Amino acid sequence: MDYVIPFEGVTTVEVKGTGQRFPVRRIYLVGRNYAEHAREMGHDPDREPPFFFQKPADVLLPSGSDFPYPSRSSDVHHEIELVVALGKGGSDIDESAALDHVYGYAVGIDMTRRDLQGEAKKMGRPWEVGKAFEHSAPIGPIIPAAESGHPDKGRVWLEINGDLRQEGDLAQLIWNVPETIAILSGLFTLAPGDLIFTGTPAGVGPVQRGDRIKGGVEGIGEIEIKVV
Ligand code: MN
Repeated sequence: MDYVIPFEGVTTVEVKGTGQRFPVRRIYLVGRNYAEHAREMGHDPDREPPFFFQKPADVLLPSGSDFPYPSRSSDVHHEIELVVALGKGGSDIDESAALDHVYGYAVGIDMTRRDLQGEAKKMGRPWEVGKAFEHSAPIGPIIPAAESGHPDKGRVWLEINGDLRQEGDLAQLIWNVPETIAILSGLFTLAPGDLIFTGTPAGVGPVQRGDRIKGGVEGIGEIEIKVV
């Protein structure tokens, strides 16, 4: 193909232990999917339908990288999340068939310019400036579901400089993975290469330059970044 401007190709994520890469199409994220986190953000954790937002694929940042503190914010928060990587797509996917669409899982951090997100919420504006900035989606290697199985419980945690900040369990997800895929696929046509960040447990908070951030999901893997 002969492109008229420089074309970088698509963003890919390492698949653990295979030497192969997972090409990413879209990144969907679920808002407020753990009751304790909904409460800490000032919301009623009643089981209202899940809501979604997106980040562009090119904001993914591989585990082990430096995370450059972003511009125009002084309140950048960490949100540790289980990430679902889709191997098959579709619309109106039935909950009972949803897990057949999953290629694998990873650990991600939904980095958030909380001050800008807060302003956007207050003014009824879109969330992009708070959520979809450069390097805002650190991600660890994808583990194929053929190896990990489909986790419905397991510890989710994040430490800063060795201090535990976030802790929860996948069993506390308000909308579990099959329900999330089913509902999301009613709103968007899902496709191979889509990632879904499934929401964060309680304990979100600010990061500072120099922080070493480490997190994990039991049975899936770990992620580590340094804020610079
Ligand atoms: Mn999040």
